[in-house]
Amino acid sequence: MIRLEKHVEDALKELSVIYPSYNLKDPHNKGTAHRIAKMWIENFKGLGEMDFEFTTFPFESKVDNECSNWIIIRDIEFSSWCAHHFLPFSGTIDIGYIPNEIIAGASKLPRAVDYLSAKPQVQEELGEDIINFLYDRLHTPKICVRIVSKHTCIACRGAKSRHAEMVTFHSFKKADLKEFLGMLK
Ligand SMILES: [Zn+2]
Repeated sequence: MIRLEKHVEDALKELSVIYPSYNLKDPHNKGTAHRIAKMWIENFKGLGEMDFEFTTFPFESKVDNECSNWIIIRDIEFSSWCAHHFLPFSGTIDIGYIPNEIIAGASKLPRAVDYLSAKPQVQEELGEDIINFLYDRLHTPKICVRIVSKHTCIACRGAKSRHAEMVTFHSFKKADLKEFLGMLK
């Protein structure tokens, strides 16, 4: 943390060389390197070990019919960081799966999202990470994810498009995704 803080401090010093009006002695700028280093460590905890147990339970459907039993947790709030610009993006994630004799503890899906979001990455990778994480634990290929988010790097730089949302869909099979999206309507 101390080394990281020192490097951030060096970067801010360079900024004050490029823009001399950036005054490092301003009381609001004091301690900023420390706050940035602390924030990165907090927000990137997903780069470290998983800090919770992903509890699962056996599940045997008692209904014998041809309908598929989707389990959906929708509107899971998340925030992550764009690896390209090191700026946050945030929004909501909907997850659905059809169990194959195993179900997840309901709160474990938001926990998994929280853990997998906490690192620099691109949204496309986050969606695939969620699918693979769940596939490893639930052993069903019928898993779908929809991510809707706003990226600070689109809103505050470049295009400066503040209302633009990035929507990505993730699944192993197109047919499952179609069914999942139909359930979300
Ligand atoms: Zn970006």
